[in-house]
Amino acid sequence: MQSYQTREMATPLCQPAASHFIDGTFMEDNTGPEILSVNPVNGEIIAKLHGATSAMIEKAIGSANRAQKEWARKEPAERGRVLRRAAEIMRARNRELSVLETHDTGKPISETLVADAASGADCLEYFGAIAATLAGHSIDFGEDWVYTRREPLGVCLGIGAWNYPIQIAAWKAAPALACGNAMIFKPSEVTPLSALKLAEILTEAGLPPGVFNVVQGAGDVGAELATHPAIAKVSLTGSVKTGATVASAAMAGIRPVTMELGGKSALIVFDDADVEAAVSGAILGNFYSAGQICSNGTRVFLQRGIREAFLARLLERVEALKIGDPMDEETGLGPLVSAAHRNRVAAYVARAEVEGAYKATPRRKLPPGDAWHEPVVFTNVADWMTLAQEEVFGPVMAVLDFDDEKDVVSRANATEFGLAAGIFTRDLVRAHRLAAELEAGTVWINAYNLTPAGMAFGGIKRSGIGRENGRAAIDHYTQLKSVFVSMQTYHGKDGRSSKPQTDPTIFHECV
Ligand code: NDP
Repeated sequence: MQSYQTREMATPLCQPAASHFIDGTFMEDNTGPEILSVNPVNGEIIAKLHGATSAMIEKAIGSANRAQKEWARKEPAERGRVLRRAAEIMRARNRELSVLETHDTGKPISETLVADAASGADCLEYFGAIAATLAGHSIDFGEDWVYTRREPLGVCLGIGAWNYPIQIAAWKAAPALACGNAMIFKPSEVTPLSALKLAEILTEAGLPPGVFNVVQGAGDVGAELATHPAIAKVSLTGSVKTGATVASAAMAGIRPVTMELGGKSALIVFDDADVEAAVSGAILGNFYSAGQICSNGTRVFLQRGIREAFLARLLERVEALKIGDPMDEETGLGPLVSAAHRNRVAAYVARAEVEGAYKATPRRKLPPGDAWHEPVVFTNVADWMTLAQEEVFGPVMAVLDFDDEKDVVSRANATEFGLAAGIFTRDLVRAHRLAAELEAGTVWINAYNLTPAGMAFGGIKRSGIGRENGRAAIDHYTQLKSVFVSMQTYHGKDGRSSKPQTDPTIFHECV
């Protein structure tokens, strides 16, 4: 394999005005540790930034704290208008944002044009529309009554992974802001750039300064923010390991969390499935974004009768995947996000071979560079193999065989993860039966990895806590306040006589 060092250009191609975006403007603090944003295609340094110092973190917190109070007082419909304007600006700038995301992540432009900023815009539009509908309810207790208020939490922290940088930022910001919160967002240090664009766009759309701040940095910056007393909620997209650390740090301060974590999802193909559709689902769920998608269906269970036809078509299509320059719209597979990540994926592939899985795909010629990995399909995978148990997060599919429906459900569920699952069958009764039995936050029937903004998305078991998108996200960015309204002095339980408010029995009646 040819290799390269990172290459420095006189003017980095994607250099932002400064590292952080705080209080409606770009800010720099050169004393923070250097962050290099590298194009994984060729090692070119496309931007040089600095991680936030504690002083910068305090600036972000101070400005978000001030701004949130004003923002929460705005009419929800007005908050929604700002988000919808931002969605329009994002769509108008989609190509520019997609090019930036392709340079920063290595994902093919054919994907970033439709799945990254575009999905972020959909989400802003969705929560922009929902903002005006936020409401509590009232409950009748005879003459007295209770009403509830959906109130914002305060300053929320968003921490992003590197695989869908602007999408993750928008998926967190949109519901948070719609509900009247402010958000401080820390992107992954591997892909620091597009969250800054989102901040710019929101500001252009009329978001008041400080309501959405971006601070750069590695895990230590995330940790400092997650434990800061001014932070009211933490939403993280990342690995289970980081999720466990961040959730316990946040919970130590009794802060609610949303955790979007990893997976090892099952995609189950029955004998009666449409072969072409099932192969498309499996390709989408294993090779899109070079396999760097949390919800990927990386354990493909094939019922014995469809196995040969499915594998023949799968291998044909995988071999036809064009590997190369992600800026070429014909490219189907770009590099992984970094050389370090490529090495992790390669180690999983080597281990699968040692453990006895059969590598069914031929060796492919790869472009020069350290971050490339060929697409791999392993057959003869057993449930106990590392490949069937751990998240690889690369273009590597594990194919397993099954005969019986009951057996495949229990094998699909025999994992610590529970992010997603897919079923391909023409038998819809069976499909709905399995949808109920599979332990997963999302189940796709005759489709895979589709995530419209109106659909709640998130994991069960170790794949996460809480939901993003859909109306469900509102519960995770608001708190419910009950207001008891007494219409008279006070009536005891027996309804007989008025008692003074100070009567201690009132407390007994509350428990
Ligand atoms: P990581 O868990 O390594 O990092 C996630 C984010 O957390 C990064 O911004 C990271 O900073 C930050 N971080 C790391 N340590 C801490 C800490 N102690 N306190 C606060 N923040 C911290 O994940 P990756 O970025 O490598 O992303 C890949 C993982 O994300 C995969 O497991 C994938 O499944 C999961 N994922 C889940 C999704 C979902 O919706 N369920 C969607 C996409 C990805 P830095 O990287 O800068 O060090």
